[in-house]
Amino acid sequence: MAHVPVDTRHWINGARVTSPTTFTDHSPIDGTPLAEIARGTAAEARAAVAAADAAFPGWAATPPAERAALLHAVADRVDARAEELAAVETADNGALLRSHRRGVLPRVAHNFRYFADRLLALALSHDDFDTRGHTNHVSWDPAGPAALITPWNAPLMLSSWKIAPALAAGSTVVLKPAEWTPLTASLLADITHEAGLPPGVFNVVQGYGDEAGAPLTAHPDVRRISFTGSVPTAHRIAEAAAAHLVPCSFELGGKSPLLVLADADLDLAADLAVEQYDNAGQVCLAATRILVEESVRDAFLGRFLDRVAKLVQGDPRDEATDIGPSIHPRHVERVDGFVRRALAAGAKALVGGAPDTGLSDASGGAYYLPTLLTDVDQESEIVQEEVFGPVLTLQTFPDGDEDEAVRLANGTRFGLAATLAAGDRERGARIGARLVAGTVWVNCFYVRDLSAPFGGSRRSGIGREGGDWSFDFYCDLKNTVTAPKGWADHG
Ligand code: NAD
Repeated sequence: MAHVPVDTRHWINGARVTSPTTFTDHSPIDGTPLAEIARGTAAEARAAVAAADAAFPGWAATPPAERAALLHAVADRVDARAEELAAVETADNGALLRSHRRGVLPRVAHNFRYFADRLLALALSHDDFDTRGHTNHVSWDPAGPAALITPWNAPLMLSSWKIAPALAAGSTVVLKPAEWTPLTASLLADITHEAGLPPGVFNVVQGYGDEAGAPLTAHPDVRRISFTGSVPTAHRIAEAAAAHLVPCSFELGGKSPLLVLADADLDLAADLAVEQYDNAGQVCLAATRILVEESVRDAFLGRFLDRVAKLVQGDPRDEATDIGPSIHPRHVERVDGFVRRALAAGAKALVGGAPDTGLSDASGGAYYLPTLLTDVDQESEIVQEEVFGPVLTLQTFPDGDEDEAVRLANGTRFGLAATLAAGDRERGARIGARLVAGTVWVNCFYVRDLSAPFGGSRRSGIGREGGDWSFDFYCDLKNTVTAPKGWADHG
């Protein structure tokens, strides 16, 4: 990086480690090469797991107050370096600098503080209970080395949301960040070192999924795998984990609905809809299927189109920019493929519907126009498959037909989230209760409390993390049953 030095090697057992070969990391903003990154293989994955395994007994035995203090020290250093981290993250993944500064980096620090504080509050204990005079004592024993595999759309936020609870729980970590966004993971390694984490407690292996990620998830000494990414990769990781029956937590893709009910505040509904273009649509939770009650379609659409016309697409470092680039030219091709097939099948693009070639050519980046498609069938590819770009579809349901609204909303193989714009709270709650989703938002979007369970139903994931559910995942629960005093005497 021009202004922030980033070590491009792995971080294993408290030291920098090279690989025989490297790969080039590019900026999505203008396509410039940012760094040559160590290209990890099975050898580095093995070394990192060995380090995490060796460090585990000491870390697990570290008193919770000490572990919590170290996590607070990490958070303090994230705060102190927030400007640098935000600049590097924006250069690497193209999301808005202002979002990184104001939303993401504070959240990253909060991830560490929250799980440190929760560890102390929870004390990883449960009230003892009695069985015919015997005492049941439930304890949360740290599980062991955790392999954490993360995607490129929100690198530091998504990795710290796994790293913090794993470390708080007393497990050790090997992180494999996405190959398109390797940089902030390396800075985080420096930060954990400066904060005083012992060698081997936190390790980073860089590289491609099949070369570095696959051997990591197949390693017999890995005790937990937490993965955020796509469904096809989850299938491969599940197969690897099956060999050693390693518990997995999967946070996967989505195709979430935004239901706009006839009595909704349509300005709010239009704001919620436009928000789905955030991060150029590369948000797993994005409500990309707008389902509007028939009688308010035109009123909603007018408000939506007014707002879209005002969106500014461009350099994510500019304060005025609303939509930045997509992660990679290959990704733009993929997004465009979905749109072209939808148009060929009869869909209409009310806005967008193509790459922004002018902006892409001028900047060297890869930009896709915010797009809204109408005239789409429920069973079509564009309604059923996750595009992961700034592409929304619009469908309607007959007035008053809640069954049809629910049928459409639930009518994909995903179940990550659902958003409702509703005037009548009772009706909103009634419909919300019927939706298959890990999170339902009513008249809001993306309000996430770390103590809430987070995850997806159906193909959107397995398990829940967040709050105490994270501790459950990164620990082995144990029940110790102790006989009453004198029991042995009485046989
Ligand atoms: P991806 O599945 O292609 O890659 C994710 C990570 O897995 C990367 O680090 C990659 O190198 C690694 N990987 C690839 N193959 C592997 C293998 N065989 N073994 C081990 N690791 C492997 O996903 P992506 O394109 O980086 O991210 C986009 C996807 O992530 C979308 O589907 C999106 O919805 C999903 N996502 C989900 C959430 C959530 O919380 N549910 C959040 C963000 C993104």
